[in-house]
Amino acid sequence: MDQLITTTISESAVRHNLMLLREHIGAEVKLYPAVKADCYGHGLELLLDVISECADGLCVAAPSEAMRLRRLGYDGPVLAFFSAYSFSEEIRELSIAELISADITQTVVDKKEIELINSVAVGLGVVASVHLKVDTGMLRAGAAVADIPELVDIINSSAGLKLMGLYTHFSSADEEDLSIAEKQLAIFNEAVAKSDVGDDVMLHAANSAAIMRLRPSHLDMVRPGLAVYGYHTYAGAETLPPLKPAMRVTAPLIQVKDVEAGSSCGYGLTYTFEKGGRVGRVPIGYGDGYPRSLSNKATVRINGKDIALRGRVSMDQIIVDLTELPDATVGDEVEIISDDSAALNSVENLARLAGTIPYEITCGLRSDRIEKVFV
Ligand SMILES: *Cc1c(COP(=O)(O)O)cnc(C)c1O
Repeated sequence: MDQLITTTISESAVRHNLMLLREHIGAEVKLYPAVKADCYGHGLELLLDVISECADGLCVAAPSEAMRLRRLGYDGPVLAFFSAYSFSEEIRELSIAELISADITQTVVDKKEIELINSVAVGLGVVASVHLKVDTGMLRAGAAVADIPELVDIINSSAGLKLMGLYTHFSSADEEDLSIAEKQLAIFNEAVAKSDVGDDVMLHAANSAAIMRLRPSHLDMVRPGLAVYGYHTYAGAETLPPLKPAMRVTAPLIQVKDVEAGSSCGYGLTYTFEKGGRVGRVPIGYGDGYPRSLSNKATVRINGKDIALRGRVSMDQIIVDLTELPDATVGDEVEIISDDSAALNSVENLARLAGTIPYEITCGLRSDRIEKVFV
């Protein structure tokens, strides 16, 4: 059965963004797009071909995502940000063996983990490639800076391991003040300098924001996510390369009705029409990942006109104000999310209105009621 909500994913937009990133980093730097969380909600199966065509390798978070890439036939390099301890203890060794056999590069963050992966690799009679992650000040994944030289030595002397990369991640590359990112980069470079790291070890740090704004962070390889799909994360993005948003979401107007002066709409009756008017009903809600925090704030577009949401976002539907659009009729296309960065219903602007980030908007828009169309 046809779904009411349609998400159109543009292959050419993703290709454009990857070319732009490639041009920006130059031919020497390796491009490893992040395809985690189903390509930030855009659909890995739809986008794998175009992304892998333009990439030197791919990044994912969970090992299960890495295995999915192999099942889909991708045979290039894959770096998983999570590693051994993301598996429960009972299946840990088996899962590590599976990853090694599938030639997935695992991230390591401590000595026990290094020893465990080494012993599994030795048992299999192979050498597993690993990247060591350095925590340069985010207190998320990574080993302490002071431990890096020793951990590098341990990996170098492990018969079952090959150190292929050393990396860190920025906490604040999308903040106006870049000094925190610059400091993290300096800490990372210092840890590298103190360690016995061969020339063939890839050094990397940059996410989308750092790629655009902090050239010294490009090092040997970059890991763009959000920019691949066409969105900027930070203020001042206007001056940056013109990315093309890959996602457009539409749904039909399914009911239109007249409103008497003084009537209110939606759960909690949070919006009251002072004058008479007209409203329309659109079948999308927080059950589809359209944030409830957009209640009484967002706009949609109908026939090229920005139309306000009235009242609260329900699980399955929203109410829009058609008073200024007398010609609107049932069946008209309602653009929920625009693929124009400058539109009021762009991913970036909706994120701002919802008090969140573009990532959460695109990752969230997933439900059985959405049909994805690839163009
Ligand atoms: C998700 C992720 C990225 C990509 O970040 P964007 O801001 O989407 O470019 C890069 N590196 C790590 C470690 C990540 O978790």
